[in-house]
Amino acid sequence: MALTTKLAILGGGPAGLTAAIYAARGQLNPIVIEGVSSGGQLMTTSEVENFPGFPDGVQGPELMENMRKQALRFGTVFVSENAHTVRLGSRPFAIVTDAQEILAETLIITTGARSRSIGIASERTLMGRGVSVCATCDGFFFRGKDVAVVGGGDAAMEEAVFLTRFAKSVTVIHRRDKFRASPIMLKRAQDNAKIKFVLDSVVEEILDGGSGKVKGVRLKNIKTGDLSELTLDGIFVAIGHEPNTSLFKGQLELTERGFIKATETATSIPGVFAAGDVQDEKYKQAITASGAGCMAALNAQWFLDEHDQPAETPADAKVVAAQSTAKESTPPTNDAGTSTSSVVPPALATSTASSP
Ligand SMILES: Cc1cc2nc3c(=O)[nH]c(=O)nc-3n(C[C@H](O)[C@H](O)[C@H](O)COP(=O)(O)OP(=O)(O)OC[C@H]3O[C@@H](n4cnc5c(N)ncnc54)[C@H](O)[C@@H]3O)c2cc1C
Repeated sequence: MALTTKLAILGGGPAGLTAAIYAARGQLNPIVIEGVSSGGQLMTTSEVENFPGFPDGVQGPELMENMRKQALRFGTVFVSENAHTVRLGSRPFAIVTDAQEILAETLIITTGARSRSIGIASERTLMGRGVSVCATCDGFFFRGKDVAVVGGGDAAMEEAVFLTRFAKSVTVIHRRDKFRASPIMLKRAQDNAKIKFVLDSVVEEILDGGSGKVKGVRLKNIKTGDLSELTLDGIFVAIGHEPNTSLFKGQLELTERGFIKATETATSIPGVFAAGDVQDEKYKQAITASGAGCMAALNAQWFLDEHDQPAETPADAKVVAAQSTAKESTPPTNDAGTSTSSVVPPALATSTASSP
């Protein structure tokens, strides 16, 4: 039997979990389809220093665990499975996982994006240990250091120029001798005395000298085959982002780069909202994702206020059942492959369902 709900949220990163907190406090009893690995991109990083409320910084996984606990506290139901199909042709919208189908009166899509990677093993093992995909997030850690940026587009030039605020030197490593970057962005980088360029070269290996932290890179010139090494403290991979939108192609309007087209989180289908990196080609920060998640939840609530709402649904019934048994919320896990997990605290019954 399908689960039915007033609101389904697809994706359990900062956007999805913030939407869940707002929607749950608005008594929409949202179902979050969080995927088999919950928490989103911040699960792959260590220190987060720019999320407000943490003067000493917070570990990415800890921040996400707390957001998830907060969403659980107000009655969010989590489905720890990947959605493989969505049907958005008419309401209720259908979200299908291997184990079940969820029918939702409204849907918030928060499936995020993936930064493109160079694709070498050392990039993965040293991620957060000198390898970064976000200068805005991590530039501050590289004050007075030597860093490199991999890429030749606008994003790479922007990251390189931004990093010169902190770093002693910034080397742009690019596989060609021509750039995709716009002339103005390229010139800004070329005119910056701290930035130098290594062209026609790819990163063959990120070196740590056994320390577990980036110490340099081995480069290969793709024209001559020559190998060389560069001593570095950090390397920023800036070769683009892939939005997780394959499920929505042909159903929702997407931008040229494949992100969901959204205006104040409203997509091309009434009742379907999008928040976070999946619709954000520009900012791609945890706080902007959370902010958009909040907007989407309020928009979904207002949309439902204007449309007929079904009476008590199986999802509601499930929540009520869980309410009577759950003593306290369970900590989040990556419970891959499990089906629905629902834990609802007693607080739900007394929550004020206020929205700001
Ligand atoms: C290494 C790293 C460090 C970063 N550091 C910072 C930082 O210090 N500060 C900062 O502000 N930002 C940082 N960012 C950026 C920040 O993580 C993102 O902007 C933010 O996570 C976007 O949130 P989101 O909810 O939109 O998407 P995501 O965090 O990408 O979450 C999307 C979720 O949806 C799930 N999903 C996707 N498809 C499906 C599906 N079909 N079914 C079910 N689930 C699905 C994914 O598994 C994922 O869990 C960092 C990013 C990275 C990669």
